[in-house]
Amino acid sequence: MDHLPRRNEKLDTRMSTESGPTILWLRRDLRLGDHAGWHAALAHGGPIIPVFILDPLVEESYGTAPKWRLGLGLETFAETLAGKGSRLILRRGDALTALRALIAETGAKAVVWARVYDPDGIARDTAVKAALKADGIEANSVNASLLFEPWTVETKTGGFYKVYTPFWRGVRDIDPGSALPKPADLSPPDAWPASDDLKDWQLGQGMRRGAPVVERFINLGEAAAEARLETFIEGAAATYAADRDRPDLPGTSNLSENFTYGELSPRTAWWAGRAAMERLSGKAAASVEVFLQELVWREFSYHLLYHTPRLVTGNWREEWDTFPWRGDNEDAEAWRRGMTGYEMVDAGMREMYVTGRMHNRMRMLTASLLTKHLMTDWRIGEAWFRDCLVDWDIAANAMGWQWSAGSGPDATPYFRVFNPITQADKFDKNATYRDRFLAEGRREPHEDAMAFFDAVPRAWALDPSAPYPAPVVGHKEGRERALEAYRNRAA
Ligand code: FAD
Repeated sequence: MDHLPRRNEKLDTRMSTESGPTILWLRRDLRLGDHAGWHAALAHGGPIIPVFILDPLVEESYGTAPKWRLGLGLETFAETLAGKGSRLILRRGDALTALRALIAETGAKAVVWARVYDPDGIARDTAVKAALKADGIEANSVNASLLFEPWTVETKTGGFYKVYTPFWRGVRDIDPGSALPKPADLSPPDAWPASDDLKDWQLGQGMRRGAPVVERFINLGEAAAEARLETFIEGAAATYAADRDRPDLPGTSNLSENFTYGELSPRTAWWAGRAAMERLSGKAAASVEVFLQELVWREFSYHLLYHTPRLVTGNWREEWDTFPWRGDNEDAEAWRRGMTGYEMVDAGMREMYVTGRMHNRMRMLTASLLTKHLMTDWRIGEAWFRDCLVDWDIAANAMGWQWSAGSGPDATPYFRVFNPITQADKFDKNATYRDRFLAEGRREPHEDAMAFFDAVPRAWALDPSAPYPAPVVGHKEGRERALEAYRNRAA
C-alpha cells in the first residue's frame, strides 16, 4: 500500500531547502486546472519539469483509438504548456528507468504524480516510489482524478460498496474539496532535458483510414473540455434526466473522453453541477443531480476496480466461470462490423466506429446482444470497445461489460434480455439515430452513415448500397437459447 498516503497524512509540501527541480510525471491528467500535482510540485519551490512516459503499460493496455487520442491529447497539452513558457518532455521505455535518467540529467530532487487505481498501474507506481525513495528522491503521489478515492469510502460495517445506490447515498453529501486554481506560473527550468519527438511514437498508426473520420468528433484538450462543460451545464443539463436515454438527442455531456485523459477534473464538473442546482429549481435542479449521480457511477467503477481488481479480467461473480460463453465467433465478427441485422445495434456499433464514442443506451444494448443473444464472452466485447473508444476507461468499460453480461456485482439480471426491436421503438421512435448511422436502404444516406464505409478496413468489403443483412439470430431464438444456458448453469 506504499502508493497511498496514510489516512489523514498531509503531503509534505514544505519548501525544499535545496529547491532542485521537481519532475511532474503526467499520465491521465493532461490539464492545469484542479490538479493537485502542479500544486505539490510548485510547493517544492524549484523548477518543474513535466514529463509523459510512454511505458510498456501504456503501450500494451491502450487500444488503437485510445492510443491515437492520447497522441492528440499530448500534442494539445504540449502546446498549452509551451504557451505558458513550459514544455512537455516525452520519454519512452520503463518508467523507473526513464525517471532515473531524467533525475540524473536534471538534478531533480523530487517526483510528483497523480495516482491511478488499476492493479497494473498501482504495482508499477508502488515499485517506482520505493525505488526512488531508496535513491534518496522524494516521491509524492496525489489525487487528481477522483472525487472520492476508493479507500476513503466505506460501508457502515467497514467494507467496500458492491452496489451503486448505497454508494451514492454514502458519498453524495461528502465535500470533495474545492477545485484548485490553475497555477499562474509553471516554474520552467532555465535549461530543458531532451525530449522525444511525439511524431516518432506514431501513436496514431493503427487508425489508418479511420483517423480523418473520427477526428471530426474529437473534443480535444482542457479549453475545449471546459467549454463543453459550460455548454452542457447552461443547456442540456436541465433536461438531462429525461433526455439522457435518447441516442437521437444531444442530451448528455459528452465529457467522457475529457475525463479519460484528465483534460477536465470530475471535481470541476461536480461543482459546476452543484452551482447549477442552486440556480435552478424543481425538475431542472433534480435533472442536474442525475448528472452528478452519473459522475458518481464513474467513481463507483474505480471503487469496484480498486477493491476487486479482477473486475477487468475475470467474472466478478465467480459462479459465471461455468457459463458456456462462446469464444470469438462469426456472429461476434458481424457484431464488430455493425452487421448483425438489428438496426439499433448496428447503428450503435457504427456510431462507435465513426465518432469514437457510443451513447450509453447503445453500449448497454450492443453489449446485451453480444453476451446474451450471441452468448459471447463479455471480454471479447470489452476488448473491442477498448480498441475503438476514444473515451476508453479501464474501470467504466469493465464495469459496464460485467453489468451488461450479468456477471458483475450490481448487474442487470441475466434473464433480463434487452429486445433490440422494442428498444428502437422506445428510444429512437422516429429512426433519427438509425438514419444517422445506417446507409443501407436509405435514399439519401446521412454523411455520418457514409463515413462508416470510409473508416472501416477495405478488407471488410462493406458496401452502402448492398442489401441490409438478415438478423444473425432471431430475437426469440437468441433469447431462449441464452436463458436455457443460464438455467443449465444455475442447475
Ligand atoms: P454523461 O451521461 O454526460 O455522464 C457524465 C459522466 O459520468 C460521463 O462522462 C462519465 O464519466 C460518467 N458516467 C456516466 N455513465 C457512466 C457509467 N455507466 N459508468 C461509469 N461512468 C459513467 N464510460 C467511459 O467513460 N469509458 C468507457 O470505456 C465506457 N465503457 C462502457 C462500456 C459499456 C458496456 C457500458 C454499458 C458503459 C460504458 N461506459 C464507459 C459508461 C457510459 O456509457 C459512458 O460514460 C457515457 O456514455 C459517456 O457519455 P457522456 O460523457 O455523454 O456521459
